[in-house]
Amino acid sequence: MPGWDLHTHSTDSDGTTTVEDNVVRAVQLGLDGIAVTDHDTMAGVDRAEAAAAGTGLAIVAGTEFSAELDGVSVHVLGFWTDSQDPALADEMDRLRNERRRRAQQIVEKFNGLGIAVSFERVEELAGNAPIGRPHVAAAVVEVGAAASTREVFDRFLADGGPANVPKHAVHPVRAVELLQDAGGVAVLAHPGLFGSRTGDVMPDAVIEDMAAAGMTGIEADHPDHSDAQRRRYRDMAAALDLVVTAGSDYHGSTKEQALGAATVATAVVEALRARRNRS
Ligand code: AMP
Ligand code: FE
Ligand code: FE
Ligand code: ZN
Repeated sequence: MPGWDLHTHSTDSDGTTTVEDNVVRAVQLGLDGIAVTDHDTMAGVDRAEAAAAGTGLAIVAGTEFSAELDGVSVHVLGFWTDSQDPALADEMDRLRNERRRRAQQIVEKFNGLGIAVSFERVEELAGNAPIGRPHVAAAVVEVGAAASTREVFDRFLADGGPANVPKHAVHPVRAVELLQDAGGVAVLAHPGLFGSRTGDVMPDAVIEDMAAAGMTGIEADHPDHSDAQRRRYRDMAAALDLVVTAGSDYHGSTKEQALGAATVATAVVEALRARRNRS
């Protein structure tokens, strides 16, 4: 299976497989490359590169960066970002602390709903990764209050859900600036999932502002997008001169999609790379 999967997670955030596992799997699949895009960290990139050395698999050093619009999550992928960039590193550190604080509040909400999860167990499940809602969801499944992560999100944890607490994050335009100032390109991840619980649609004006701030691409091709959403964001990409990207958003066993479930051709990676640091 030739092509590049530009959106993957590992145990360095809320995936269930290690970056090394992902590299082995990608090589087995015959992929040309994968982007390592864990939430608000680039901690796994060096290990992914070491694992891929000599295999022919290319690694795009990246992250999936958290932003928010009035309490609703917006994710922005950064490719070829420098993890040492001070402003980006500061915001990632702040997000790590913010995620911890917020997970404690979510645990309290579950406790208030009579579900006896403990923050210590959530921390254990997260290990060294920034704590995400899937870690809390796994703890809720463990105590028998739901059958699956998906059920926990549907009943409690989606944006606007009764146990959710939003994390404070930057505006999406600021996210674009931070990723670009760190030498990377910024790509709006899965715009169709915005406010999926409430049926909200991400405002066009915000996507236009992100494009005006120098955003490079938009992930129109995501496994959770409907055909109508794919068409909508492809049209928007054409209108705003954005590169259309694809990625599986692989998370191991916490989500259904397989590694390599959505890929782009090498020409797309080259088009992204050519726009690095475009002013
Ligand atoms: P957080 O980064 O803590 O805000 O959590 C967001 C993460 O939760 C996403 O990156 C997904 O991995 C996961 N997630 C969001 N919605 C769902 C859902 N409906 N089912 C399963 N996982 C989800
Ligand atoms: Fe995730
Ligand atoms: Fe995401
Ligand atoms: Zn993702």
